[in-house]
Amino acid sequence: MITDTLDAVHRGHAHDVDLEDTFDFLNTDDTENGFPLERLTTLDVALDWFVDRGVIHGEGADRVRAIARDDPARAGRLLARIRGVRGALREVATALVERRSPTARALETINRALHARQVIELVPSTEGVHVDHRHVGDPVDDALARLAEPLVLELTAGHPERIKICDSDTCFWVFYDDSRTSRRRWCDMSTCGNRAKAARHRARARARTGVPAATADAQLDAEVAPL
Ligand SMILES: [Zn+2]
Repeated sequence: MITDTLDAVHRGHAHDVDLEDTFDFLNTDDTENGFPLERLTTLDVALDWFVDRGVIHGEGADRVRAIARDDPARAGRLLARIRGVRGALREVATALVERRSPTARALETINRALHARQVIELVPSTEGVHVDHRHVGDPVDDALARLAEPLVLELTAGHPERIKICDSDTCFWVFYDDSRTSRRRWCDMSTCGNRAKAARHRARARARTGVPAATADAQLDAEVAPL
């Protein structure tokens, strides 16, 4: 039956990528102690990340590595494309949060990535018809398309208003707010949420005592430490 074959194709090749994977991808453009921290430092690291998330096959990644070894300039361009699509996806998430249109350039970059998606097609077989798949782009393009898709689906059939960016001054993680009231402000309450609470506590105490900031911070660091 065609549906069975379609399912098999889906299971075998179209690895399940969910919105969390997409956000994890966006959050590889990270920060640490308020400073930018690039997690996808090299093409190799990026390919490892893709293999780990199942958006690229091991053989596909090896093929790209072999090409990259022979052509460092091409490796550089590939890494730039990966980061470019990631940046474009983040721009869409940011635009959603800020209730504005994303830049035309970001949309163009994402649409180009989406077009690189592998296609399935019907081919004749001895028993009738068979579903085959065909890669139209290279494995990296296909991986980027897979990572873009959950965000696109969320926009069309999900809850885009639940896509948020952490409110912390030192963290810009994109996250999905699945709270009942949809009013979550931080990517993680136990880290960013508590840091923000501690900062508010310090600011309030400073206002109350009129003590210079540095002194108040030193005093209050001890006080809010368990947070
Ligand atoms: Zn955060």
